[in-house]
Amino acid sequence: MTPSPRTSSPCLRALGLRSSALLLGAALALCGTFASPSAAHATTLRLRSGAVLHGEIVSADEERLQFRRWDNGGLVELTWAHLLPADAARLQAIHLGEGLEDEMADAVRLTLRDGRELVGRLVEDRPDRVRILLNLQDPPSTLSAASIVRRDPARVKAVLLTPAQELYDARARAAEPKSAQSQFDLGLACLRLRLYDKAKEHLQRSAELDPLFKDRAEAKLALGAREKAEEGARRELEKLEKALAVQKFDDARAALARLKDEYKNARSARGAAELEARIAAEEKSYVGDKKQFLDNKLLSDWWDAARSLLRKASSKRELELAKAKAYVDAILDTEVKESLARSMNLDPKDLEERWNQRKPTATKTATYGESTWLVDAGPRKKAGADAKSLEEFLNEGDLDKIIDQLRQSAKKNTAAAQEEWWKVASSEKRQAFLEAYAAEKFGKEVELKSQPCATCQGKGLVAGNAELCRRCVGARRDRVVVFR
Ligand SMILES: [Zn+2]
Repeated sequence: MTPSPRTSSPCLRALGLRSSALLLGAALALCGTFASPSAAHATTLRLRSGAVLHGEIVSADEERLQFRRWDNGGLVELTWAHLLPADAARLQAIHLGEGLEDEMADAVRLTLRDGRELVGRLVEDRPDRVRILLNLQDPPSTLSAASIVRRDPARVKAVLLTPAQELYDARARAAEPKSAQSQFDLGLACLRLRLYDKAKEHLQRSAELDPLFKDRAEAKLALGAREKAEEGARRELEKLEKALAVQKFDDARAALARLKDEYKNARSARGAAELEARIAAEEKSYVGDKKQFLDNKLLSDWWDAARSLLRKASSKRELELAKAKAYVDAILDTEVKESLARSMNLDPKDLEERWNQRKPTATKTATYGESTWLVDAGPRKKAGADAKSLEEFLNEGDLDKIIDQLRQSAKKNTAAAQEEWWKVASSEKRQAFLEAYAAEKFGKEVELKSQPCATCQGKGLVAGNAELCRRCVGARRDRVVVFR
């Protein structure tokens, strides 16, 4: 251990004090009067009752502390609430806050031209370039010397740059096997390196060599055990979070169970009940999402498969309109579901059940376009509804009559006329018709909307009302199917 200026006083070193200014003040006052072996925890407690106790904290956890009084040697158990709040906060910070100290090592801080700072150990230092080790996982980074604007000394956790075992080996070689102090110091170093088994070995050895080290060794071992449990608890918490992130709820629950069984006293294990509730809530929402996802997939797949079948049907020139409609009415749904059951690897019965319970969210649209007249002769208007002038008003009343007459004369209002239209219609027009027809039949929450025919602006007639609009055939408006 590198002695800091503050611990260089022989008295303090003999006490094995940390350089914490807080403890230093307390210990300085005691030095020479009380040379307790456990002085690392030496402190003065001011209680709410007004009493002042001198002694040492033997152990402490989130709720209570054990305190050995120096006046009578008695062991007192107190809760933090017994102490003046300021003292409680200060001592909790020391005994619970950070847990164990870390073994630190000298390092260098490089400030780069681009503003970055790198802290590590130089493994190569040449006039033109340097290589710096930042951690044990990555190879050293190579930098051009010109990119470095300054170098400063720094301290880092020793285990970042050197394997813990290597640091331990060096210390163990330097330690004296027969010296209780040396074994105790080695034990402490092991704790700082998080080598708990080795720490136990050397701390126990120090107590065997000199009974005066027993209390201190046990206090340190308790600290080590607590920190080991905290580390284990943190590891399980990390596993739990990772499992939750990928929806592996059983793994999350397994981590929580280990946390509760093996690390129930660790601070990080507090709030396990909340975690249990959180896992349950996330699982519930995930299962819901998954069902929603499958439902949506089923719906969009149904529609995709249907469209592909309808595209095929519309390109069969010999297929008559009546038969095409019958195909949609009677066969399409079965054919689609059979192919979906195969591709989604679902039992046809399950699929049917899902289909019946579907709760679609996305809205789709299909439009009949100019084939609207095959299903809808067009809105019959009240005379004058759209009129903007007297002339129009007088005319409008006659539009429906004119359309009907024109259709009659062109024989455009019969099934035969529709078949005729269908026969010459392009595949795209036939497909638009079949898709809209299927959507109207199989869609959920079907809503029919309309938009005026683009050719006659919704009049149904062209050429001064002398001719039937050839596009909408008097339907006036295109029927649009909005569905889910
Ligand atoms: Zn039209």
